[in-house]
Amino acid sequence: MLVAAAAQVGFGGKICWFLAHAVGVGLLILLYEELQHQIFSYTWYALLYLVLIVVTVIQYYRVAGSSPGYVEDLENDPEFEAGIKAVAGSTPFSHCSTCRVVQPPRTKHCHDCNKCVLRFDHHCVWLDTCIGQYNHRRFWWYVFLETFLCIWSTVLYFLAFHLQKSSAWPQNLLLLVTFVGLLCCSIFLTTLLVFHSYLVLTNQTTYEKTRRTRIPYLRNLPKDAHPFSKGGCGNVTEFCCASQPYRFYNLPPDHEAAGPCLAARNATESITKSTKCCSWWR
Ligand SMILES: [Zn+2]
Ligand SMILES: [Zn+2]
Repeated sequence: MLVAAAAQVGFGGKICWFLAHAVGVGLLILLYEELQHQIFSYTWYALLYLVLIVVTVIQYYRVAGSSPGYVEDLENDPEFEAGIKAVAGSTPFSHCSTCRVVQPPRTKHCHDCNKCVLRFDHHCVWLDTCIGQYNHRRFWWYVFLETFLCIWSTVLYFLAFHLQKSSAWPQNLLLLVTFVGLLCCSIFLTTLLVFHSYLVLTNQTTYEKTRRTRIPYLRNLPKDAHPFSKGGCGNVTEFCCASQPYRFYNLPPDHEAAGPCLAARNATESITKSTKCCSWWR
């Protein structure tokens, strides 16, 4: 029943996303005569705007249709089993009683998907899927494109409102309301983009950042210690270029039993050893 309710919420999120784009972009083209002229006379920036809309929609469906890295899909996969064995000696594994699978480090059970997700970031209701190890990169690009599209649309609405020749109030009110809505979305998306860029630079997830004090392998570490970080360049390179299908992380040594002082020292040593060209960013 919970899964069915979650599916309905997820479907509702997709409908809201579609309506927001149909209104935000469709109204603009219908109401802004100048833009209509530009589109039909193939002015280059109007065409560029349309290309951005199409690319953003494609990227949305690419993320929505992608797997975040469900552990149950990887069971019985020889490469996955070999990866688990490789880190098993240095890292204690937990076990999910719902999925009945071994949880590699940084894995979390998602109650919306009802599955365990590798390097769990968050469950996105707008996309109706989890964001995890396999699709975080696609998600970042989607947020980048959506932010760009939203800011561009906000600017066009601002111009439309000022240049509108008609003084009909319903039309002007519609433009004004949509402009304010888009402005709020632009601020939210820009904040989201900056936040996820920060997560990439420090090799953290949304879950780890927001629930740090509840996560056993992080709660004893200092706030500014990022135990999985390889330095800014290393983290960005791993995020953008990593091609290996399974990445397993070693948890910080003695992260729980050692207490705050030793754990902090271990984390600091780990960071110092792993930081190469970009020691300014942990
Ligand atoms: Zn699970
Ligand atoms: Zn999920």
